[in-house]
Amino acid sequence: TREITGHTRVYGILADPIHHVKTPQMLNPLMAREGRDGVMVPFHVASDDLATLVAGLKAMKSLGGFVVTVPHKTAIVDLCDAVSDSARRIGAVNTVRREADGRLIGEMLDGKGFVGGLLAAGIDPRAKSVYLAGAGGAANAIAFAFVEAGISRLTIANRTRAKAEDLAARLAEAYPTAQVDIGTPDPSGHDIVVNGTSLGLKEGDALPLDTARLSPEQIVAEVIMQPEETALLAAAKAKGCRIHFGKPMLACQLDLMADFLGMRTLAGAGK
Ligand code: NDP
Repeated sequence: TREITGHTRVYGILADPIHHVKTPQMLNPLMAREGRDGVMVPFHVASDDLATLVAGLKAMKSLGGFVVTVPHKTAIVDLCDAVSDSARRIGAVNTVRREADGRLIGEMLDGKGFVGGLLAAGIDPRAKSVYLAGAGGAANAIAFAFVEAGISRLTIANRTRAKAEDLAARLAEAYPTAQVDIGTPDPSGHDIVVNGTSLGLKEGDALPLDTARLSPEQIVAEVIMQPEETALLAAAKAKGCRIHFGKPMLACQLDLMADFLGMRTLAGAGK
């Protein structure tokens, strides 16, 4: 165990509720492995108090930065002094670095983590066609990361069609040459099929897409981490598809967060 001293960099995770967060349990051992004098602790904050807390954090010279999760990922954008282009387009931030001068720099790593997790599994989405179920927070980040990564075309299917249309419009604005369509529950005709909804988290959830239309040459990927093998993945496996779990997204994202927050020596990791 490391000693916390007057030199220790402090990192936080902002959430409400916060009891379920797992990021400190992963980034504290990472900092220890890297020989970094830093500690990540929970900052439990309600939405109404977010701006007050963030103003205080700007003044905290020993702060290295913080991770942001539900329900603050959208509200934090306007509280940062600068955010990356992709975070601005997505409209959400999940990692904030505090510069020496107190400026807070925001980045959104959910989608990059998802694409990085695919790449780590040897699945290169470049020039591939992608079917994405969902248009919520995770799906937004993933859609932008896929288009940024150079997929050939994207089909977005969401229960609330207007949200899929809004996402497609924002993608088209940011990437005028990208081919983005609104889809139905039928994922056929796409190389990579992704569940970006929260369906699958709870037992008895409906399937996020029509699994009868899957075929063996398709890769089917999840954002849901628990259970590891969702009903969608079980059905896809039965159809002979290659499946990709939700966990690698998180693993890759932790690496990207650690790099962005300066928690480890960049050894070509995370770019
Ligand atoms: P949001 O609430 O922003 O979006 C939820 C999405 O699921 C929407 O597209 C919503 O459709 C859809 N949905 C929910 N219930 C139903 C239903 N009954 N029928 C059809 N569609 C439904 O959630 P997030 O995007 O933030 O999170 C989604 C999931 O992603 C989470 O469950 C989480 O587990 C996972 N996640 C995983 C990460 C990882 O590292 N692996 C990181 C971040 C998230 P509609 O728009 O119609 O409401």
